[in-house]
Amino acid sequence: TIGMIAIDVDKQIHAGTSTNGLTFKIPGRVGDTAFPGAGAYADNEVGAATATGNGDVMMRFLPSLIAVEAMRSGKTPAEATELAIQRIIKHYKDFSGALAAVNRRGEYALSCYGWKEFSFVVSSPVKSGPNTRIETVKCL
Ligand code: ASP
Repeated sequence: TIGMIAIDVDKQIHAGTSTNGLTFKIPGRVGDTAFPGAGAYADNEVGAATATGNGDVMMRFLPSLIAVEAMRSGKTPAEATELAIQRIIKHYKDFSGALAAVNRRGEYALSCYGWKEFSFVVSSPVKSGPNTRIETVKCL
């Protein structure tokens, strides 16, 4: 799955996802990616989140919605993504997935579980062109 979050020049926040689904998925399975709140969620007043990983589990917890609502109530993106992942692993210890979140100020974080670490791309516009880099976080 590829998840993207962008804040445009008018400060509108967008989240989008694209996936080929899980390996060996059941034919016809849709998965979490297409469902707002599960694969992605955005609210201009707060920020956005996108998820990747075991979608059959994530669909039951709506981690992208949980992260955005946690940021609405004052949590940082790091606190919000960790809270949403913790909510899942409380019930599914063999879960693997990652959740990224960005708030209105452009602060961002990613929390993951089930892998050692997870890398993601961050791009911020500067006058000389986009400043794009890869960041890696240790998973919970
Ligand atoms: N979440 C996707 C799915 O379950 C898979 C993925 O993120 O790699 O279909």
